Amino acid sequence: MYALTIENLYKTYNNNVHALNGISLKIEEGDFFALLGPNGAGKSTLINIICSLVVKTSGLVRIFDTDIDVNFSKAKSYIGIVSQEFNFSPFEKVIDIIINQAGYYGIRKKTTLQRAEKYLKMLDLWNKRDSVAGYLSGGMKRRLMIVRALIHQPKLLILDEPTAGVDIELRRGLWQFLRDINQDGITVILTTHYLEEAENLCRNIAIIDQGKIIEHTSMRDMLKKLDKQTFILESENKLPDNLSLEAYAVRRMDNYSLEIDLHRHDHINKVFDLLSQQNIIITDIRNKSNRLEELFVHLTTKN
Ligand code: ADP
Ligand code: MG
Repeated sequence: MYALTIENLYKTYNNNVHALNGISLKIEEGDFFALLGPNGAGKSTLINIICSLVVKTSGLVRIFDTDIDVNFSKAKSYIGIVSQEFNFSPFEKVIDIIINQAGYYGIRKKTTLQRAEKYLKMLDLWNKRDSVAGYLSGGMKRRLMIVRALIHQPKLLILDEPTAGVDIELRRGLWQFLRDINQDGITVILTTHYLEEAENLCRNIAIIDQGKIIEHTSMRDMLKKLDKQTFILESENKLPDNLSLEAYAVRRMDNYSLEIDLHRHDHINKVFDLLSQQNIIITDIRNKSNRLEELFVHLTTKN
């Protein structure tokens, strides 16, 4: 069963911004999934449509077995959402925010308090339960949003940039918490612009750019791709027709240029030694970046 099915989703805002341009995506139940993309890519728009906070222009969204257009409240009951923006009253107490949320779902007070205690303790907020939410630090506010999102025991937890503004130490704690609840069977989808976050947590990822999915793969395969870099080398003299460099993946592109794939831990001087032995003199070397790597450089340096 898919936790989320999206087909041909479009969103054009009133100001004529085309935020989503035909998104199709399926996410398996039990998955830990990252939606990666630069600022303005459309991540929040997508998440907010799934949670019915934003109205789509066209397309289909199904949560487990329920189309949001057919039974909006049933679809919504499956989801816990942690938005990018803090959206609770800063004047209310932590525990009251959680109790009020549980009230929307008609959960009994006793059950609410049991669950609240469990999650507040797990997220190190228990001693803040009677504090006014506005006085919490950014990281605490984010964790309060997580407790609130989990109070009705959703099968799918969606977090929009959960660790933005959370310091490294706390981030690791939060990651462990998310791993634990995923282990317990909750499907987790998060958006992030930190590759490291996706790398640490997620089994599958999609990269979104300008409202389109440009890559949808397993984290493992993505890392394999990132581990490899291709260089273009120019030779001063004509390259031999049957060029080979031991175990290195080398391709003769024309009489004077070759491409070689190197892994992160390869010694590049070994390559030059082998070339020298064949009397090949290299005058230029450059990195052949592919779109994906460029995007990642962009993603990881921008923030
Ligand atoms: P991301 O979360 O990936 O940074 P968003 O979904 O927030 O991207 O934004 C996608 C695009 O839609 C951006 O160009 C943004 O300016 C625009 N946008 C987002 N929300 C609104 C809105 N409420 N009204 C108009 N344009 C919006
Ligand atoms: Mg966003």
